[in-house]
Amino acid sequence: MSPVGESLRAMPGQFGVLRFTGAGTEEPHPFSFSKICSDGLLRVTVKDLGDFTSDLKTVTLLGREVAIQRPFGRFRRSGPTAEIWVEGGIGVTPFLAWADALECDAPRVDLIVHH
Ligand SMILES: Cc1cc2nc3c(=O)[nH]c(=O)nc-3n(C[C@H](O)[C@H](O)[C@H](O)COP(=O)(O)OP(=O)(O)OC[C@H]3O[C@@H](n4cnc5c(N)ncnc54)[C@H](O)[C@@H]3O)c2cc1C
Repeated sequence: MSPVGESLRAMPGQFGVLRFTGAGTEEPHPFSFSKICSDGLLRVTVKDLGDFTSDLKTVTLLGREVAIQRPFGRFRRSGPTAEIWVEGGIGVTPFLAWADALECDAPRVDLIVHH
């Protein structure tokens, strides 16, 4: 998603409440940001678990406007230390943003994926 006007200032680990314009997709749902770019681009990654998220697959989202209720959440790293991250399924999304924000010379992080 690219910003129209002022961009959101989200931190890795935060989520927004998204509302897509257009019939059938206007119900607001929370999604973590899986990528946060410095130019304001944001990505969410969605798993089709229920009614709304399954229906999202059937509509064309390209070009649609999305209203994002401002970033929420305090899922933060304890610091730039060696860590073990444990995630299950679509719960990986905040870790993707965290991983993206890692410096090349950052202390080692192990990601344990449980499916
Ligand atoms: C802070 C936060 C961040 C999130 N981030 C992400 C993200 O990054 N990516 C993502 O994909 N999702 C994320 N989610 C979850 C996402 O918001 C939900 O998957 C979505 O709102 C579910 O909407 P739905 O209508 O498709 O599913 P629902 O219809 O609400 O169903 C959700 C799940 O509940 C089950 N279910 C529904 N009704 C019942 C019932 N009566 N009994 C038993 N089980 C039932 C369904 O089978 C399904 O597994 C996040 C949620 C929160 C709270």
